[in-house]
Amino acid sequence: MTPDEFIARLKERAAAMPPPEKPPSPLKEYGLDNVDCPICGNTGYIIYKKDDCMYSRDCECMPKRRSLRELNRSGLKDLAQRYTFENYIPDNDRAASLLEYAKKYVEDDPAWFFVSGQPGSGKSHICTAICLALINRGAHLIYMLWRDEVTRLKGALVDNPDYYQKRMDQLKKVQVLYIDDFGKGKFTDSDQKIAFELLNYRYNNPASRTIISSELDFSDIKKLDVAIARRIYERAEGYCRRSPAKNYSIDKTGKID
Ligand SMILES: [Zn+2]
Repeated sequence: MTPDEFIARLKERAAAMPPPEKPPSPLKEYGLDNVDCPICGNTGYIIYKKDDCMYSRDCECMPKRRSLRELNRSGLKDLAQRYTFENYIPDNDRAASLLEYAKKYVEDDPAWFFVSGQPGSGKSHICTAICLALINRGAHLIYMLWRDEVTRLKGALVDNPDYYQKRMDQLKKVQVLYIDDFGKGKFTDSDQKIAFELLNYRYNNPASRTIISSELDFSDIKKLDVAIARRIYERAEGYCRRSPAKNYSIDKTGKID
């Protein structure tokens, strides 16, 4: 069957079928409805013809879909619905300034964003809002909760080197990586090795965006590893912020903890 015959047959079949009800968007399950794609009808791929052959390629909505799946798997989905720029209500100048920098970062050239602060200071809120804004612009993003991911990677180094390599490759090469709670817990030699391998790779690829939140500030990170602190500082120049403690609210009714 030639490609033209194949297409003609598909059209005949389509014409003979009753009009389908609009299928639910596969993205509904992620709870983020503003990503219906009229280009591919939410299949995620485009079929096209070239030199009398049929090919398929990813639709331009695919990076966004992959990011949302990552968010879904990571458990960040619920936060992503609450932690938007609109829901971040600054209570003082420093919180307002952090919000302003975060919004500017989204619009700025590729760079890193680093925010330190106590638990509950709003740093995860700001970073999550940045991630969502980038995803909505089509970026492919992976969310990495530092302690969980590094524990898995250390286990894989011993038991499953293939997994280690595959996952590290993903984390190194993804367009946007959000590392949440960087340096939390005991920072062992293995943690240091993994952190350096990952951040040094991304440092050497200036187009990569890395968003880092941490309870540690720069002086703490320098104590862990000077080379890592220097790479973060260089790439996040202008976007290293400290989240003010316990002084912003997530909505008008109260503060988060
Ligand atoms: Zn699409």
